[in-house]
Amino acid sequence: MQVSRSLFDEVMVPNYAPSKIIPVKGQGSRVWDQNGTEFIDFAGGIAVNCLGHCHPALVGALKDQADKIWHLSNVMTNEPALLLAKALVDATFAEKVYFANSGAEANEAALKLARRYAKDKYGEQKDQIISFKQGFHGRTFFTVTVGGQSAYSDGFGPKPEAIVHAEFNNLASLKAIINDNTCAVMVEPIQGEGGVLAATAEFIKGVRELCDAHNALLIFDEVQTGVGRTGDLYAYMGYGVTPDILTTAKALGGGFPIGAMLTTTDIAKHLVVGTHGSTYGGNPLACAVGLAAVNTVNTPEVLNGVKAKAQLFRDGLEKINAKHHVFAEVRCYGLLIGAVLKPEYSGKARDFMVAAADQGLMALVAGTSVVRFAPSLVIPDADIVEGLARFETAVANVVKG
Ligand SMILES: *Cc1c(COP(=O)(O)O)cnc(C)c1O
Repeated sequence: MQVSRSLFDEVMVPNYAPSKIIPVKGQGSRVWDQNGTEFIDFAGGIAVNCLGHCHPALVGALKDQADKIWHLSNVMTNEPALLLAKALVDATFAEKVYFANSGAEANEAALKLARRYAKDKYGEQKDQIISFKQGFHGRTFFTVTVGGQSAYSDGFGPKPEAIVHAEFNNLASLKAIINDNTCAVMVEPIQGEGGVLAATAEFIKGVRELCDAHNALLIFDEVQTGVGRTGDLYAYMGYGVTPDILTTAKALGGGFPIGAMLTTTDIAKHLVVGTHGSTYGGNPLACAVGLAAVNTVNTPEVLNGVKAKAQLFRDGLEKINAKHHVFAEVRCYGLLIGAVLKPEYSGKARDFMVAAADQGLMALVAGTSVVRFAPSLVIPDADIVEGLARFETAVANVVKG
């Protein structure tokens, strides 16, 4: 059967508007479509493909596990899940791990745990969840309501209650809301979907202090920033501020669906048998790949490489901007990169993304006015140089109109 983009409109629910390009093969940071046209991948499947496409460590882990055992459910545990949990516990503040299949599910677990912990310890009245405007936490009804754009949660009937939004990077705004009935504050250390915007160190420190003052749990949503993206294994390490609960997904599986919630023993003990669960969570295939991803990324070689490659992006984008004057600001937090468009290009990020694809470069947007890159953490320097050259042509084309 001839598969074409028009089949999407025929058989798929229309909640996405995918590109006309249908990739069929990837290797490292290069991708080829049905026609054999080659692309350089600065998108990384939205910060998922942390080791590029078909990295031998991930392919090896998947094939190896595929010949052993695929699925058991949580009636029995399995070796890859225990090994991945052990690796995450050894590498982070966490003492306990819960596995899910996505970022939203990891956040759902975190929010439910925070509510249950507060109820057990302090009583029913302590149920308020505070998060931040422009934040993004997933698309389940609970997580999308906690997210900071009400447009995403409107129109689906009654919303989960006791959720309030403060201003990101504005401690006074949080201080005005937080109280002894706040059970948790959920925050992305760097807002990804919201425009690639980092929390300041003072803000993150202040959020921690306010949480402590009101016995509220601090939840870091590191679904986008986790697993080496910023040059630290998790962004909290760079801030030197430790959350009570951390969620991780996206890059954790390097392209295989998996999510996890990390926390301490004292908090975890409130999710007793039967309180929460997932059929697929902790699936052996996902965990085997996740273990290979974490072990490969969590090395000085890869993490230092992220910082060096980020500098290449920063320099290259500044050079493009010196010529074409399209960016108000270039933000590089490791390999989570946001080029903020000047007011005269405001709302046109998508045009840059489409122009980039025309030049053989896969890019992303974050909102309507930020061009975002989230490439492989091991993207070869030569691919960065070539990709930026393609991007410059795309920028020139947008400028020309
Ligand atoms: C992508 C993302 C999510 C949602 O993850 P899914 O796997 O799509 O459910 C949640 N939080 C943040 C910060 C994200 O970037």
